[in-house]
Amino acid sequence: MSSNISVYKICGFCGFEFLAKKTTTKYCSLKCASKDYKRRLKNRKIESSNLQTIKIKNQPLIDLKDKEFLNVRQLALLLGFSVKTVYRLINTKRINAYNFSERKTLIRRCDINALFEKPQIGFEIVLRPTEQRKQAEIKDCYTITEIQRKFNISSGALYNLIKRNNISKFSEGKFTYVAKKDIEGYFK
Ligand SMILES: [Zn+2]
Repeated sequence: MSSNISVYKICGFCGFEFLAKKTTTKYCSLKCASKDYKRRLKNRKIESSNLQTIKIKNQPLIDLKDKEFLNVRQLALLLGFSVKTVYRLINTKRINAYNFSERKTLIRRCDINALFEKPQIGFEIVLRPTEQRKQAEIKDCYTITEIQRKFNISSGALYNLIKRNNISKFSEGKFTYVAKKDIEGYFK
């Protein structure tokens, strides 16, 4: 079946405009059609190879999901925490673990799951200082340097005091501010 129509099309491979006999023609030439076919084949191979890589990379995580006991490194991987964080959580008794001997600490997977089963009481998500929004007007605040001078305290001791008492601070420009009312009480 032949038709006498001619339509302008853009070649799916070289991108040039060409005159096609059918509206369904995708390529300007057989050469372009063949090249595009090869390109698609190659892309498919790359895609499949990438998927394979992702699968291999995630395999340790998949294997861990069904484990009844985990060591510290495995738990860190599973939770997406650093090993150091997991040790800290164990040492502060936030996570239950059993220490068989040096480097042989195991955590039960069910204990981790159990952590999420009841509501956590007395817990408040504390924003990181950089995420904290402005707490007070600048005129009602001291800068860190001002506090140090006024109350004769070292910067280390001051930061310690702020951290220990969970005092709000915020940054604006190059200064860090603390509300006067929040800090004055500690120096009375
Ligand atoms: Zn072409």
